[in-house]
Amino acid sequence: MKSYPGALQGLVEQLMKLPGIGRKTAARLAFHMVRMPGEDAEKLAAAIINVKNRLALCSFCQNLTESDPCPLCRDTSRDAHQLCVVEYPADVASIENSGAFKGRYFVLHGTLAPMQGLGPDDLRLEKLRRIVVEQKISEVVIATNPTVEGNATALFLSRFLQPLGVHLSRPACGLPVGADLEYMDPVTIRKSLDGRGPL
Ligand SMILES: [Zn+2]
Repeated sequence: MKSYPGALQGLVEQLMKLPGIGRKTAARLAFHMVRMPGEDAEKLAAAIINVKNRLALCSFCQNLTESDPCPLCRDTSRDAHQLCVVEYPADVASIENSGAFKGRYFVLHGTLAPMQGLGPDDLRLEKLRRIVVEQKISEVVIATNPTVEGNATALFLSRFLQPLGVHLSRPACGLPVGADLEYMDPVTIRKSLDGRGPL
């Protein structure tokens, strides 16, 4: 391994902790940062600290927010009886961009992954159940990604929520198998949500 000056080495090691960033990319980014104007480097550092200090989870939908409840949960023009369950905050942003859904959300922050020890408690499913009952939710759209893990989680959720007598639906298969909602175009998301079917 190449030996960099301590400060640079420290930056490379921190960047390597980011998803999808290997040693080579981390070094390239680090060298770019060394060449950055000081002002830009300070803005980048401040932006990272800001998201850590200012963002928290909405106590209702668990989306990332600067105010609790989040703006989506506070919006009284939205349908309070429809709930869309997604894996990550980025999925909420993608669905909002599509304009196809006007209800509330619930963010799981992952999928069930027994091999990694991720169970129903980690996804706060008891809280989801409570919201469905207390908010008198009439439809739950299970919009986990159409991946193996996302489909398994959807199946688990449908069994988990069925006893509550709520209408359960899943976006139509217009969503490509194995794809991530986060990277899909708004038109595909809108079509698949419009054509959602019962689970
Ligand atoms: Zn919220």
